[in-house]
Amino acid sequence: SLTNRSNSLNAPGNDGRSDSDRGSSYSRPRSPGAVLPLPASHGRMTFLVPIPDLNLMPDSPPQETSSTAGITPGGSLASTLDVEADKGSNSLAIVPVPDHENHVVQTLDQDNQKLDRYVFKRTRMIYDSLRLHLTVEELRRPEPNPYRRAVNLKASRLMEESELCLHKGQHLVGSVPGVEIGDLFFYRKELCMFGLHRPLQSGIDYTSAHRSSFGVPIATSIVVSGGYEDDEDKGDELVYSGQGGRDNSGQQRQHQKLERGNLAMVQSMHHGVAVRVIRGFEYDNGVRSKVFVYDGLYRIVEYSLVRGKSGFDIFKFTLVRIQGQAELGSARLKRAQTLISTPLYALPAGYISFDLYGNNQGVPVCLYNDIDFDRSPLNYEYIAQSAISSVITGKGETDGGCECKYSCSDDCICVRKNGGELPYSPYGKLLRGKPVIFECGITCKCAYGCANRVAQRGLRKKMEVFRTRELGWGVRSLDLIHAGEFICEYAGVMVTKEQAEIMSMNGDMLVYPGRFAGTWKLWGNLSDVYPGNVPPSYPTLPPIDYAMDVSTMRSVAAFIRHSKEPNVMVQFVFHDHNNLKFPRVMLFALDNISPLTELSLDYVLADEVDERLAICN
Ligand SMILES: [Zn+2]
Ligand SMILES: [Zn+2]
Repeated sequence: SLTNRSNSLNAPGNDGRSDSDRGSSYSRPRSPGAVLPLPASHGRMTFLVPIPDLNLMPDSPPQETSSTAGITPGGSLASTLDVEADKGSNSLAIVPVPDHENHVVQTLDQDNQKLDRYVFKRTRMIYDSLRLHLTVEELRRPEPNPYRRAVNLKASRLMEESELCLHKGQHLVGSVPGVEIGDLFFYRKELCMFGLHRPLQSGIDYTSAHRSSFGVPIATSIVVSGGYEDDEDKGDELVYSGQGGRDNSGQQRQHQKLERGNLAMVQSMHHGVAVRVIRGFEYDNGVRSKVFVYDGLYRIVEYSLVRGKSGFDIFKFTLVRIQGQAELGSARLKRAQTLISTPLYALPAGYISFDLYGNNQGVPVCLYNDIDFDRSPLNYEYIAQSAISSVITGKGETDGGCECKYSCSDDCICVRKNGGELPYSPYGKLLRGKPVIFECGITCKCAYGCANRVAQRGLRKKMEVFRTRELGWGVRSLDLIHAGEFICEYAGVMVTKEQAEIMSMNGDMLVYPGRFAGTWKLWGNLSDVYPGNVPPSYPTLPPIDYAMDVSTMRSVAAFIRHSKEPNVMVQFVFHDHNNLKFPRVMLFALDNISPLTELSLDYVLADEVDERLAICN
């Protein structure tokens, strides 16, 4: 297939570069994101997970696909484009850019794809945690600016100044390295920062004639925001109105012309250039907010100039989605919302339980299997919090809480225990990972809604344990989860090292939380934005050598599968006892996790498969 691709690239109408030229002109994104150091925990720690039923996710978890076209995950777009290339179209067109900028060619190389994904996710983590950091900084000012926009603008400016924006100065055709279908964004500026769509207002992004290998302007992406009276969106096929002639309120006041974006769309159609489609819509996730989701590549199949509903002439472009791509991200979001609002009795077949916890959680936790007849998760008893004996906690040993009235602030003794800053944003998001967090506890006078009580409030997201295609079990949420948000406690029965040694001989399932000891560094590292910003070394925690028995009692978290590219991380938290050797294992989101997307956790496994079943410590 590589040969086909080269042929296509050298076909008339393309820029005619030789393979060797192309090889040398391709280079990795220059963003410093590419050289972000791995957390110290990676590679050096060789902790082992002895849990027989912990399922390993494939390296790149398969996207749920609506079709069974046999496209390998991660390589789907490249494969699709290959198929298209066979037909002689110019789908992999290179748009020349000035010499000082990089040429970008999509690659079929799996390693490169992984690196691209890694760079994208890392960069987004920096951006998301930077936004949280700036929000808190803004609120500390004497007269805080009430608009979120101010914070977002500052965050993107800092990202730009730190050269963290990806593909800057490049004009990408086709899929964007590292970005997957279904990836979520909250602001137009983000689309620009990650190379998906550059203009902040205009719905059509295009490259100008003098920078295009075709010598004509080429459209590369569109944002479908709805609200245009002449648009029609059926998902895989959509009719998109051209640009121009509208006033500030979006009313059509003039005829549209065959110029700028409209001309570029027509040229993309003539040259068979695939166009990225990003859908933007209001999404109700507790709070109503706008989301943008990347929906993959489409081809423009026809266009016409018609009299619009406004009475003015407008361009209408019909776009058809290229086959074989992962499920539409926007469709998945809407499916989740439908599931949430559907009465229990009307839910699709496959739901085995709607309440694994037996009503002791405020939100439903479902069991779903549409693959086979396995119902084994019903064999466990579900607990929201780890069971911990008073022998371990030390009965009555509390050191007195704070005297705060409603919510704690930076000078409260509990907050001082955390190094003098609240560990969470006012909306309960983790500002940055720490060796450990001390939340307010039972002896504190502050209210339950105190900003220093987050993980102790328990699960707030509608969760599902589901049967995976690899015939293991996985966990996903029906709710959208924002980066930094608390998910749930990884719960079991806490046992001492000595107890664990006996239990492991019986083949009980044990998790060793000590393995997660360095993974908090994944979240909130802003050293690329603020040089000199070092990971917090305080509060410190003694080595953790307890084990968690999940063979009879557990939380849904025990079904979360392992991945080296996790979207969830562990943060140790105390709130109900003071034995520093037994922190609770709390899970927080590292990423904006779209509904129905599988959660994954890095169990810090050894590379050698045999050792996976060995006993740690
Ligand atoms: Zn307090
Ligand atoms: Zn307190």
